[in-house]
Amino acid sequence: MNRDRRKQLPVSLIIGQPWQLHCSLVPASLSSSRQKLGLKGFIFCKILRWYHSAIKIFPDTEAGSRILEDITSNAGHIQEQVLEEILTKNASTDYLKGFLNGHSDKGLFKNKVPVVDYEDIKIYIDRIALDGEPSRILTNESITELLKSSGTSGGKQKWIPKTAEEGERRAFICCLRDTVLNRYLQGLSDGKALLFVLINPDIHTPGGLVLRTASESEIKNRKDRYPQFILCEDTNQSLYSQLLCGLVQRDAIVSVGTFFASGLLRIIKFFEEHWQEMSSNIRTGQISAWITDPNCKRAVSLILSKQMPDLADSIDLVCQEKSWEGIIKKIWPRTKYVLATITGSMAQYIPALEFYTGGLPVVSSLYGSSEAFFGINMKPLCSPYDVSYTFIPNMAYYEFLPIDNHQDPNCTNRKDAHLKDHIVDLANVKIGQHYELLVTTFTGLYRYRMEDILLVTGFHNSTPQFKFVQRTNVVLSIHTDKTTEQDLQKAVAIAMQILQPLGFFLLDYSSYADTSSIPGHYVLFWELQLRPNDDTPELDQVKMEKCCSLVEQSLDQKYKWLRNQSISAIGPLEIRVVKQGTFNVLMDFYVSQGTSLNQYKTPKNIKSEKAIVILDSRVVGKFYSREVPNQDS
Ligand code: AMP
Repeated sequence: MNRDRRKQLPVSLIIGQPWQLHCSLVPASLSSSRQKLGLKGFIFCKILRWYHSAIKIFPDTEAGSRILEDITSNAGHIQEQVLEEILTKNASTDYLKGFLNGHSDKGLFKNKVPVVDYEDIKIYIDRIALDGEPSRILTNESITELLKSSGTSGGKQKWIPKTAEEGERRAFICCLRDTVLNRYLQGLSDGKALLFVLINPDIHTPGGLVLRTASESEIKNRKDRYPQFILCEDTNQSLYSQLLCGLVQRDAIVSVGTFFASGLLRIIKFFEEHWQEMSSNIRTGQISAWITDPNCKRAVSLILSKQMPDLADSIDLVCQEKSWEGIIKKIWPRTKYVLATITGSMAQYIPALEFYTGGLPVVSSLYGSSEAFFGINMKPLCSPYDVSYTFIPNMAYYEFLPIDNHQDPNCTNRKDAHLKDHIVDLANVKIGQHYELLVTTFTGLYRYRMEDILLVTGFHNSTPQFKFVQRTNVVLSIHTDKTTEQDLQKAVAIAMQILQPLGFFLLDYSSYADTSSIPGHYVLFWELQLRPNDDTPELDQVKMEKCCSLVEQSLDQKYKWLRNQSISAIGPLEIRVVKQGTFNVLMDFYVSQGTSLNQYKTPKNIKSEKAIVILDSRVVGKFYSREVPNQDS
């Protein structure tokens, strides 16, 4: 899409693909400098500057693909260069000086710099964030923002340094991601992408830095690329306006998405609650009076400039259907794919999303975090269960801590002096092995534990591909049992097989270890939905009790053994079914506590008493396991 054509497009959500947005800005001089240097020259001479330039040298998918092939063919070499650059640049920081005494030798780094977690470096970040000390405590790039990691999956929020250069690196990986998408899905540039984005007001730390989430940072730093209503800080007005514009332009939309799958389900729920009002707005050409935000009003009025009764009729026809199965495809018939991360803890949403998407591919395109962006999915159309991410070797320096038994939640709690001896670098990971990811960034994190467990599934050229397995630190435990997030997810999926034939799917779930009862027991909160409608479904006591037993039966031997003891160490597992919309209320609660909606992930294990009260107050049925699990199976 060229620049002039873009100008003529009506204001909408994010139009076209980001790499095209960058390309529309390519000055002619850069194109020629690219020709002089050649892509390869660019890649191997100046990695740092290359980030910046490469964004602008993606004239088309073919060029992007060549870059991708080049960097993935030289992962080991590029990683060495990245580490060298990070050390050369940051050797004089207070942090590294403490270990390396001003040297930037890579061997010394591997020998002397410890593996740390957030708590270990929090003191440095607090000095910058709270006391206003300079960035050079940690990095010689200038820290411009702090990113709030959602933290809800591990229960704590972290503040991660971000720099302008880091913004360029992230834009670069997004270009590569979009190169791959364009390779698999033709014709994306002939339509518009409906990417739902929500933001919160900025917070300023006492030290004067802006505190935002990673997605807010991307949007606010590139405001000119987004329609203005994206900047509206009122969630309801913003979402309403985004959906309304998406409906008015329904025939132009070729992809629909948001960051995480849970967010998309939330948006569909919002749409269910508001479609009649939106349709009425479209019929009359007037936006509802409660939309008062000037950005929203202005942006919507550009699109909703006349009465459109035919469009309203066609929307009514689709939305009035008894079942909303395939609603995304029906409302936006040209949609080629749905963008939403559905790996890791999001995998539980696959059935629900498949219900609403009507067979469209759901694409998990990127694995990233507030700390850094890591990898892209080279096969975007693969089954959501088979997604692996190919690490992009110039984003950061990656190391990996092998995990022999990732089922053991203590597997990564090691803090022993020999931890360093086990670490391998990107080029040396082994297929089939689980690892915890450590990252060293340009922005002041050194051998920092991401607390994510990954499994090596293969290689693209010389670059490893990883499946996201789980977070390290989410467990349910009553006694000496340790149930990981993944164990629980598997068990819940097995138990749901009882209810699926009856037309139920699990919209969301969470859990906590209830130790107020003796013995303590696992409590699972389930929000169920019946396919044909969204009324609170009738629950069959016997089948629900069977679900409780099946969850228990699917947990590990230790759990079953503790349940089987003559004086049980763990009581019967309980499922509390909550009424429709409960997990939205839970999300609102966490958002009110500072979590970003864009990055929200339902905590699978709830520690907050307030959150448990919210769930408990919406329980419509309680069921207990009636069978002691069989230890021999
Ligand atoms: P945040 O810093 O709030 O963006 O959260 C980052 C965390 O989200 C990562 O460390 C992962 O645990 C999780 N995450 C990010 N991308 C993915 C993905 N593609 N698949 C599974 N989990 C992801």
